[in-house]
Amino acid sequence: MLKVFNTLSRKKESVKAKKLNLFVCGPTVYDFSHIGHARTYIAFDVIVKYLRKTGRDVFYLQNITDVDDKIIDRAREAKENPRDLAKRFEKEYMQDMKALGINSVTKYARATEYIKEIISQIERLLEKGYAYEIKGDGIYYDISKFKEYGKLSRRTKQGAEDAVSRIDDSVQKHNKGDFALWKFSPPAGGELKWKSPWGYGRPGWHIEDTAITEKVFGAQYDLHGGARDLIFPHHEDEISQMEAISGKKPLAKYWMHTGFLTVQGEKMSKSLGNFITIQDFLKKHSPRLLRLLVIKAHYRSPIDYSEKILEQTKSELERIDEFVDKLQNSKSKKELKIKNLKLKIHKAMEDDFNTPAAIASLFEFIREANAKKAYTKEALDFLKEIDTYFGFIFWGKQKKEKVPLEIRKLVNQRENYREQKEWEKADNIRKVSADKGWIIGDTESGPEVKPLD
Ligand code: AMP
Repeated sequence: MLKVFNTLSRKKESVKAKKLNLFVCGPTVYDFSHIGHARTYIAFDVIVKYLRKTGRDVFYLQNITDVDDKIIDRAREAKENPRDLAKRFEKEYMQDMKALGINSVTKYARATEYIKEIISQIERLLEKGYAYEIKGDGIYYDISKFKEYGKLSRRTKQGAEDAVSRIDDSVQKHNKGDFALWKFSPPAGGELKWKSPWGYGRPGWHIEDTAITEKVFGAQYDLHGGARDLIFPHHEDEISQMEAISGKKPLAKYWMHTGFLTVQGEKMSKSLGNFITIQDFLKKHSPRLLRLLVIKAHYRSPIDYSEKILEQTKSELERIDEFVDKLQNSKSKKELKIKNLKLKIHKAMEDDFNTPAAIASLFEFIREANAKKAYTKEALDFLKEIDTYFGFIFWGKQKKEKVPLEIRKLVNQRENYREQKEWEKADNIRKVSADKGWIIGDTESGPEVKPLD
């Protein structure tokens, strides 16, 4: 029986339904995505693929925030049309997701394609007395009208690590926590604006998600996800909007939140400048490495990114590669039952997607198989099965596979020497590799190995 930790109740709850509607907050497309974003999207990719593999029918919906002050500001700086800038970074995001093997989203929904639905939601909030107008500024949500405000985050005030939107600032708000549903455009200019019953303007951040989910799923659905910076105020505000409009609760039955990818304990973010874009990461490392790095942590736990964790993960991946090589090539006839491993992985994944426990039992099995020199087809088939959701054992490896493991190890060793500026040792490795018939070259995206003609 699947159990999921629900942020709403702060408890693990059973999920019995076989058909699940899931919404995960997508990116604001004003810049390149970093590996912090990748952490959240890899985690949900694994979760969705696991659910589907085990017979659950998941509709995975993700929004694209393509209207936001960050987009407008960035476009102004770059002297670019904000719509073009958003399109450009949406394309980059899609390519990044593809490069990481994230292909489980059923539907992407751009905020700007739901303006009609956004306006309809604001109209209903005004009618029901949950919203008010500030002349010359915008339409705001009055949080004091929603009696359960704070039920998800268990607070009503902002904290240091919350994701915020500057659009909500106004000195005339009725309550400090009130937020903009619609922001009026200045009489002249205003690059991103739409006509509404209240004049030209643009939507606030929180209303786009409820407008999208109401259109696609209806007033209620099963699962809502995002990283933990979105719990307050973003998800709190979504609840207060949609539950006020529909009178039905809860908006989503289960709320799932991923932990941050941090650097020395601080959230990786654009504003702190401590980020590595997905594209820069992939110039040096394989997408499998990032997937394993994410998967070996529980989705709710933080991951502190460092050279050390990168090196550890590389050697873990090497151990798996060696094992797979043996499974594919060993002539050993020894048997090793895989039933236990299957049970352990199933149990771990059904228990709030406990991927670290699943990976630990995989390594335990590898140790046992190596000790007994038992390399069976059954094990190989099972690894292929679990890789349909993990996506780091075989996935992304095809190109490299032709290069023998021995040579791949030399390439890694040489990279380590180069990083330590041990040029002589690095050169020696290149010679050893050439003697074995493989030329190691350097390209902008990292080392490249070619067979000697
Ligand atoms: P944004 O484009 O900033 O709205 O972020 C898109 C998604 O990535 C949201 O679910 C964020 O909460 C998540 N996210 C942003 N930074 C991190 C991080 N350092 N670690 C994990 N998730 C993150």
